[in-house]
Amino acid sequence: STVLSIETSCDETAVAIVKNRQVCSSIVNSQIPIHQQYGGVVPEVASRQHLEIINQAIALALTQANLTWQEIDGIAATCAPGLVGALLVGVTAAKTLAIVQQKPFIGVHHLEGHIYANYLSEPSLEPPFLSLLVSGGHTSLIYVKDCGVYETLGETRDDAAGEAFDKVARLLKLGYPGGPVIDKLAQEGNAKTFGLPEGNVSQPGGGYHPYDSSFSGLKTAVLRLVQQLEKEVQPLPVADIAASFQKSVARSLTKRAIACARDYGLTTIAVGGGVAANSGLRHHLTTAASTHNVRVLFPPLKFCTDNAAMIGCAAAEHLDRAHISPLTLGVQSRLPLTNVMQLYQKKD
Ligand code: ATP
Ligand code: MG
Ligand code: FE
Repeated sequence: STVLSIETSCDETAVAIVKNRQVCSSIVNSQIPIHQQYGGVVPEVASRQHLEIINQAIALALTQANLTWQEIDGIAATCAPGLVGALLVGVTAAKTLAIVQQKPFIGVHHLEGHIYANYLSEPSLEPPFLSLLVSGGHTSLIYVKDCGVYETLGETRDDAAGEAFDKVARLLKLGYPGGPVIDKLAQEGNAKTFGLPEGNVSQPGGGYHPYDSSFSGLKTAVLRLVQQLEKEVQPLPVADIAASFQKSVARSLTKRAIACARDYGLTTIAVGGGVAANSGLRHHLTTAASTHNVRVLFPPLKFCTDNAAMIGCAAAEHLDRAHISPLTLGVQSRLPLTNVMQLYQKKD
């Protein structure tokens, strides 16, 4: 099916048209430069900015795809989780279009978008598979049993992987967002220079939790290392620190994802979220998986971070199963992935 999708959960105004797991058009307008002057995302500014450009973005997506409304089967928008005011802009636009164009409306959970972004690089992928979701706000291992049917097997106990990249970048004074800068620097550094913790979570009975992780200790270890080095060396070996940190995160995520896939007999790991763009993670996980006969998939690079094409992929899966949202659907700042089916009414 062909879906027009909108993503406005945070600081990207994005609209896309996706047809049978292929991108016809994808507009992503990042507000990062606007929020940078405040040192973080200001919710009120985000909503206002979405509102100002959403109509243009929709028109542009249609023009670039060279499609008419007649060829669109459904209209989708991210409705949870995220900033309420920001989500409202996308959801209201999508519902209005659904009424005017007489198309079904599909509300989408943002994380389902990150999971199904993998369909853009691997159109033949079908559940069951294991999703390693690594984004700015999440670090989870999710057993994808079917579209809408999920079991969370592992999570971070504190910072998300992307958050760790952002915090370490801040303490190295590299700016925001931190992931892409650290990734680039790490390629010039030596990852063996500094030994850093790998995010283990101790279990009450001894040993480590097999699937849960913790990144706040790693962040603190980097902080201590920087404080120590500042006394000893000038300039700071930023590239070596970045490389050592990135290796720790990559090894940590790889170890847990492979163990989880093997324990549950899943032969495919599909990675999603902004950190899926990380070259260190891509390399470590792909290498480790090949020795365990596990297939690893990543979305195309530009569809790892927030975009609307991934929302279109998730929406199309629901639409194909006749999962349609009522026009009374609201937005939610939080919603566990395991509750996504409450966004749909079964139509027959
Ligand atoms: P969530 O999806 O959990 O609500 P989000 O939408 O803010 O959070 P994403 O857009 O999926 O998060 O990803 C953004 C995060 O990905 C940021 O923390 C950013 O630093 C990180 N990131 C982006 N590119 C890379 C990279 N190449 N290496 C590591 N991290 C990266
Ligand atoms: Mg963002
Ligand atoms: Fe995201």
